[in-house]
Amino acid sequence: MSKHFVPENLPTHLQHYIGGQFVDSIGGETFDVLDPVTNTNYATAAAGQKADIDAAVAAATEAFKNGPWPTMSPRARAKVLYKIADAVVAQEDRLAEMETFDTGLPITQARGQAQRAAENFRFFADLIVAQHDTALKVPGSQLNYVNRKPIGVAGLITPWNTPFMLESWKLAPSIASGCTVVLKPAEFTPLSASLWATIFEEAGLPAGVFNLVNGIGEEAGDALVKHPKVPLISFTGESSTGQLIFRNCAENLKGMSMELGGKSPAIVFADADFDAAIDSTLFGVFSLNGERCTAGSRILVQRPIYNKFVEAYAARAKSITVGDPHDPATQVGALVHPEHYDKVMSYVEIGKSEGRVVAGGGRPENLPEGQENGSYVAPTVFVDVAPDARIFQEEIFGPVVAITPFDTDEEALELANNTRYGLAAYIWTNDLKRAHNFAQDVEAGMVWLNSHNVRDLRSPFGGVKASGLGHEGGYRSIDFYTDQQAVHITLGEVHTPKFGA
Ligand code: NAD
Repeated sequence: MSKHFVPENLPTHLQHYIGGQFVDSIGGETFDVLDPVTNTNYATAAAGQKADIDAAVAAATEAFKNGPWPTMSPRARAKVLYKIADAVVAQEDRLAEMETFDTGLPITQARGQAQRAAENFRFFADLIVAQHDTALKVPGSQLNYVNRKPIGVAGLITPWNTPFMLESWKLAPSIASGCTVVLKPAEFTPLSASLWATIFEEAGLPAGVFNLVNGIGEEAGDALVKHPKVPLISFTGESSTGQLIFRNCAENLKGMSMELGGKSPAIVFADADFDAAIDSTLFGVFSLNGERCTAGSRILVQRPIYNKFVEAYAARAKSITVGDPHDPATQVGALVHPEHYDKVMSYVEIGKSEGRVVAGGGRPENLPEGQENGSYVAPTVFVDVAPDARIFQEEIFGPVVAITPFDTDEEALELANNTRYGLAAYIWTNDLKRAHNFAQDVEAGMVWLNSHNVRDLRSPFGGVKASGLGHEGGYRSIDFYTDQQAVHITLGEVHTPKFGA
């Protein structure tokens, strides 16, 4: 393995960014941040408490009420958003190094993240300029129009997988809509979020529009969710955390967008393009270290090709290069954190009594044992997995896949829908009717026919069942961050019953 790479000028302390200033927690609290290749602490981060969230919400409220941003013309806002996109791209190399260092994501897969993040800002810049709302005429009586208004201070809470890019998913539409924001990034991976402040400042975003509070979910995240002056929460994370946030938002009847967990099926019919299905289903679960919400982590394969599929899949999984995330040859890097590594490894052990291991099943044999040598898991393939197995039902969020055979279309559908989740589904068949009928019946917010997850920003993104509430993407995101006030103008005489006359 190559020598452990450390980015130049790596910060040793990460602060909050509130009202245009980098600050520590009011009470001085911090938490440790570690890198997943040596599992040692490389920095401390300010640990936000209720008082820090209060300060950030106050700054965001001031910028919303008295700042120029919410009432600037869409074109003027779009100009700033374009500058943000350019500034993100200018940080591409630095961002990739930081992301790889902090998350354990292979460097070749971290490289695309800046472009994807920048594209979110360009996309929403274009969308707000082109945005049009309805005006309705009621002949001789009324003219009604929609007055679209940013809602206020948006609370954004994000997970640790591809953190910078996922933050951009929320930052771009909320800021484009004219909201001001408080971002609470994941505590495992706060490093790349520290880039946002300078990017926004240099692009000319007014102070107070973007605020960042680092911290633990149960402290900083909880305070943000419960803050009475934050009218909406956009959350991406585990379904169980989402459930808790649901309950906590109820007190103040907040708007919520929930992007939650998944256990998405890839269904491979016997008539599918075999080689393409193998490539795609491998990439679909082992890219991004398997730490991706839309991972196709249950593969259902039709019986006539089952043995051939399992053999080819296992051979390829065994050949995947696992190792130092900074090595360009690496395909699966280190899992984000020892706690998450322990969780994934516990599922690998559970799986051994629930299925047959045909690849992996522990740490990669060529890498040294011990936590200090990184959180590495060999791509692990379980086959003949029954639908009541925990590794079939529960989200593992690592390089682990369960493969199960089926005979008929009905059985495939039953298996595909047989979990609490409903985020994505990948259907492999060349039968047009079957593909569309299956897409109609499968319980998933997003379906790909003969592909892994390739996404256009205009399409809705979101899950059903335990995978989420609401859909973002394109104008749906703008709808979430804005109120659509109906204004009614009386044109003629209004008919009024004369009470008391
Ligand atoms: P998590 O739920 O543990 O944490 C997500 C965020 O919520 C973190 O910032 C955390 O600090 C915060 N948080 C935790 N407890 C909180 C509380 N009580 N109140 C407020 N905030 C709190 O999730 P994770 O482990 O960071 O991320 C992995 C999960 O995210 C997986 O389940 C994955 O499927 C899901 N995910 C979903 C999508 C999607 O679009 N559907 C995308 C990426 C990840």
